[in-house]
Amino acid sequence: MLSRRVDHFVESVIRDMTRLSIKHNAINLAQGFPDFPAPPELKRAAASAIMDDYNQYSITWGAKDLRDEISRKASEYNHIEADPESEITVTCGATEAMMASMLAIINEGDEVVVFEPFYENYGPDAAVSGAIPRLVPLNEDNSIDEEALSSAFNKKTRALILNTPNNPCGKVFTKRELKLIADLCIEHDVTVVTDEIYEYILYDNKKHVSIGSLDGMGDRTITISGFSKTYSVTGWRIGYALAEKNLTSAIRKVHDFLTVGAPAPLQHACASALRFPDSYYEELAKMYDGKRKLLYNALIKAGFKCMMPEGAYYILADIPEGIDMDDMAFARYMVSEVGVAAVPGSSFFRSEAGKHKLRFTFSKKDETLMEAARRLEGLSI
Ligand code: GLN
Repeated sequence: MLSRRVDHFVESVIRDMTRLSIKHNAINLAQGFPDFPAPPELKRAAASAIMDDYNQYSITWGAKDLRDEISRKASEYNHIEADPESEITVTCGATEAMMASMLAIINEGDEVVVFEPFYENYGPDAAVSGAIPRLVPLNEDNSIDEEALSSAFNKKTRALILNTPNNPCGKVFTKRELKLIADLCIEHDVTVVTDEIYEYILYDNKKHVSIGSLDGMGDRTITISGFSKTYSVTGWRIGYALAEKNLTSAIRKVHDFLTVGAPAPLQHACASALRFPDSYYEELAKMYDGKRKLLYNALIKAGFKCMMPEGAYYILADIPEGIDMDDMAFARYMVSEVGVAAVPGSSFFRSEAGKHKLRFTFSKKDETLMEAARRLEGLSI
């Protein structure tokens, strides 16, 4: 007998596509992880941490040097003041931070407002924590349907999940939009759980605003980020959650019994990452901007319809006209016949809208993207 809890979700389609991609020897533009090396100074810091014997458990909610650095970074970059002793929890990736946060604040039957399209994980996060998702579709141009948003709130609403910059659609929420969300959350006494893992990957002078920094939001926001995307170390599994101390103490309890702690030597290395100069972040965004344009042009040339993302490293594209397959069938065709793996759009939607879309990542070497572009040309011939 299995639990009803696990009946409510399937295994990750993103990771399934990675396995299919390996099987067909395709180019993996499905799962968002870099195929290029991590920063050498960061790798050296991790190797030294192991040699220097940072090899036993760290404090369950995170090594002190890392929490101190996160606190400083949160103050300078996110304009959020978080006490390292009582308001920061280091987790096994933003993924664990998200699940631990949901388990810490949700009671069975509580409603959670989620914008659609949404990152795949939020479905299982809701299912495991017992939340009922209330989906609010973004408009075609990714703007907020204010009417739909305000009518999603009711007495049962406990939390709102936000993700900016957004995976999969690349939207970067503006300060005005965040203010609108904040006002509704204050009015209805709702907690925001915000996933800001792509906070440094922004284009065209877009600015990252953390909703937790807005007036009245400090005590009702759990701000989640991590090292995977900013420092190209998705396999290290180091993330964190910032929240006021009562929320943090609940998150820490869940985290403690889920994982005990994140890998100690890697936490030590991540503390040094937070001391990188500003130029590191400028270079990162510039590098991804070039990759964004490369993939965008290749997709347009192959007949896809898509928008340039404002942030993160994905493009959510409409399947070319004249292709008579839904997203699942077309993704399978692409991986086996074209040799390019993408994620079926339905992973990010509960509505039918996803059935006409695929998501591609451009977190890959230019040469990988160029080879994908060459293979995609075959589609329009
Ligand atoms: N966040 C990445 C993506 O959306 C990786 C997903 C995962 O496997 N955790 O592709």
